[in-house]
Amino acid sequence: MTILCESSATGVLPEPQLNLFGDDGAPLLPCLRAYDILLVNSSAGKDSQAMLDCVYERASAQGVADRITVVHADLGDVEWPGTRELAEAQANRYGVRFEVVAAREGLLERTERRGMWPDAARRWCTSDLKRGPIRTLMTRLALELDHIDRPRILNLMGLRAQESPARAKRLPLVIDDGASSGRREVTTCLPLFHWRVEHVWDRIRSGQTADLVHPAYAAGMPRLSCSFCVLAPTPALIKAAQLRPDKAREYAQLEQRIGHSFKANLTMAQIVRAAEAGENPDVTSWLG
Ligand code: SF4
Repeated sequence: MTILCESSATGVLPEPQLNLFGDDGAPLLPCLRAYDILLVNSSAGKDSQAMLDCVYERASAQGVADRITVVHADLGDVEWPGTRELAEAQANRYGVRFEVVAAREGLLERTERRGMWPDAARRWCTSDLKRGPIRTLMTRLALELDHIDRPRILNLMGLRAQESPARAKRLPLVIDDGASSGRREVTTCLPLFHWRVEHVWDRIRSGQTADLVHPAYAAGMPRLSCSFCVLAPTPALIKAAQLRPDKAREYAQLEQRIGHSFKANLTMAQIVRAAEAGENPDVTSWLG
């Protein structure tokens, strides 16, 4: 499939083929000139980092790197320490705009008020703490382009099919009707959708931010974002509790107060006990 790209200076240009099925390290990106805003969602984790390198390279080649905004949804101290600062440092390395968004109420406060933790079926942590505030930013960015009738936003995320069966069912390039409105058109793009984790690390090693990798990876964590993710497997949670014992105990205390188990078949109290017992968790099942 050849994607054609409009250019006011040169007319219609052929773009590189979309890599729809391969995992050979080519990012899946449409013609970036077709979008007014290139919104790169960054958790500061490895996938965001590799994605930003790809997007910046392609946008520079197409002369639209100035359309990139990196956004970090800040979840406060439930994230690994230094995450927000690292996302900013990564964005600064490319000289692109950086924005931080945050919900008024944090994850733990919200959990306490609701009396229950989020889970795979009720993943309000993502919708309320990340997606909602990022859509508010989209509104602001679109308003800045008041000379454009209905700005087109390419909302870029580092999700990969390898990460989970649920993610593998996503479409890597789709118009987001929920985020679009009469004032903007939002297209969701997953440039690394077909990449395996080795490609991600290869890209980081050869990219511009090889020295800006979060230390949680070297400490043994396979993924970033919340230190204690409700979707994480038990070994990763035990590992996280060994790295952040105080935060794990804070979660366990909240769990006791609300009387709702952190996961359906696993309490945070059990995780803390396993961590304190010095278990050596095998986190390889969460490596993707
Ligand atoms: S990392 Fe896990 S707990 Fe945190 S917002 Fe994402 S899904 Fe929710």
